[in-house]
Amino acid sequence: MSRILILGGTAEARELAAELHGRGREVITSLAGRVARPRLPVGDVRIGGFGGPDALAAWLLSNEIAAVVDATHPFAERISASAAQAAEQGGFPHLRLERPGWTEGQGDRWHWVDGLDEAAARVPELGSRVLLTTGRQGLSAFAGVSDAWFLIRCVDPPDDPLPPRREVLLDRGPYTLEGELALIDHHDIDIVVTKDSGGDHTRAKLDAARTRGLPVIVVRRPPRPEVETAAGADEVVAWVATAQ
Ligand code: NAP
Repeated sequence: MSRILILGGTAEARELAAELHGRGREVITSLAGRVARPRLPVGDVRIGGFGGPDALAAWLLSNEIAAVVDATHPFAERISASAAQAAEQGGFPHLRLERPGWTEGQGDRWHWVDGLDEAAARVPELGSRVLLTTGRQGLSAFAGVSDAWFLIRCVDPPDDPLPPRREVLLDRGPYTLEGELALIDHHDIDIVVTKDSGGDHTRAKLDAARTRGLPVIVVRRPPRPEVETAAGADEVVAWVATAQ
């Protein structure tokens, strides 16, 4: 098998690139270009959108890609749909690498919602000092919530419109339980809002919320194309070996 395209932007994608590279596979990771200073994986990297599924299919052909691994974030809907369509169109082997979602445990006070608008609507009834960790995109959903104060944590500065009462904290994971507890205590946080991103890099906020008895609004994952899916890098490595 020749080059493998990893659609990235996640810790899992970086770990997979390192794993395949370490096994002598030629990998190229694609990033959207959303983050100003992305953490770069080993191997080749390309940055920027492809221009939709047809353009991606053409790119796969002209770059002699042997297989596509979609290791993008569970909430990155469009690129996953595009990859599924492009791979089918061009007959490229295609695998989705998706970390499992988070599951509620004893002592958790989670409120599941279907999107950011619903999350924003639920905030006033559940809390007044919010740790908002849903990322830089889509924050306009919270712009109309004036009866709560928000600590907005994201990697790069967010664009307006934002909630009127807020502070922006630029930071990126992984986070620790001690750090999250200190943040919650320092800002008198009484509710956490998150996407169901899954994985260990950002789950400490959930453990901290449980420790402090705080409610958490959890945004459900969007629907995805039905494609062959692996839960970890080991499965992808095995798949790559058989997909030659
Ligand atoms: P999205 O809505 O699915 O994608 C929007 C457009 O951005 C796509 O149609 C594609 O443009 C381009 N794109 C996205 N990911 C790309 C990639 N890996 N390589 C090349 N082009 C890509 O994605 P998003 O939610 O904005 O996320 C962007 C990136 O950030 C993803 O790579 C994702 O893994 C990462 N990320 C997202 C989240 C999140 O909460 N959404 C969180 C952490 C990391 P074209 O149609 O022009 O090809």
